[in-house]
Amino acid sequence: MRSPRDSATLSAHQQIDRLGGCTEPVRLLGQSTTIDTATGEVLRSYTAADEPTGSLLTACGNRRVSRCPACSRVYAADTFQLIRAGLTGGKNVPDTVRTHPRVFTTLTAPSFGPIHNRPTDAGGALRPCRCGKLHEPADALLGTPLDPKTYDYPGAVLFNAHAGALWARFTIYLRREIAAFGTDAELTDHAVAAYVAKYATKSADSSGALDRALFCRPCQGRGMTLAAHGTPLTCTACGGTGQARPLPRLAVERHVRQMIRTCWELGKRPEFADLKLWKWAHMLGFRGHFSTKSRCYSVTLGALRDDRRAWRTEQARAHAGLPDLDPSTTLVIGHWAYHGSGYSPGAELLAAAVRHRKELERQFTAESGPS
Ligand SMILES: [Zn+2]
Ligand SMILES: [Zn+2]
Ligand SMILES: [Zn+2]
Repeated sequence: MRSPRDSATLSAHQQIDRLGGCTEPVRLLGQSTTIDTATGEVLRSYTAADEPTGSLLTACGNRRVSRCPACSRVYAADTFQLIRAGLTGGKNVPDTVRTHPRVFTTLTAPSFGPIHNRPTDAGGALRPCRCGKLHEPADALLGTPLDPKTYDYPGAVLFNAHAGALWARFTIYLRREIAAFGTDAELTDHAVAAYVAKYATKSADSSGALDRALFCRPCQGRGMTLAAHGTPLTCTACGGTGQARPLPRLAVERHVRQMIRTCWELGKRPEFADLKLWKWAHMLGFRGHFSTKSRCYSVTLGALRDDRRAWRTEQARAHAGLPDLDPSTTLVIGHWAYHGSGYSPGAELLAAAVRHRKELERQFTAESGPS
């Protein structure tokens, strides 16, 4: 009989390598057992405690560059594949989608007051901003108000907070109207997919929004907690501000701070209670998803993740020299619990080396031209 202990434990280096340089992996404790459904024999057993790091590490999967560059790149690449498959087929989407009519539309939010920008003349040459400067493309002033005192901050926050609902309404009407749109032969499928995928990770970070919620969790941003007899007490965690981190101390641009402050002020008004502006202040009021797609457009992100997981599992199985078990005659029973996040100091050194190597590989791929 096969020993129940013949697990596919990887070396610490292999385990970290498999995470692809993830910044803050999730540590899991638990075990899984593979059983032959006909005989009840334990074919394989895996215990996370046997791992050299003492737990099973899985990538965090965060979509934000500022939280995890490695995982956000995987998300952007998946988004690219999803959009490309919807335009040209592949990944179980038939090639005939190429013949479907398509529209590439850019929508612009309403203005809430003049902002610093990089205007161009009819010939495409750069003109000075209204402030008189020729802004560099990376200038932090770009997109921020020329005069913060007259800028419509409540309007901007409320637009963000309603963007999800506006978008849902827009897509309903768009489907009714779309038949009359023309085609733009200049845009290639690759260019469209690359353009959208680029914003899959850039949009939230480059707006200056923060990657963590700002409200105080013990009091849910109210600044007050209720004692046993319903007596309101000042929250001891935040000192009554409702903020987990004091707004004046946030390392953000002045414009972003004012957007956050406006979220806080509007969040106190009962008519805006359902917008949960405290909870979404770090997103400047926006609480929607980055992307929406109809069910039949293309492959799903979930299907791409499942394919990747299956491929990695197969690689690990082959690497460990374990037999290929028939899923129709075996049963996998697992018990898993969250143990923590991040690396131990030793593992962090290994992870840094993996990140460095991945970055070099990425630069090399980028320099050798489009794939
Ligand atoms: Zn990660
Ligand atoms: Zn300017
Ligand atoms: Zn509090």
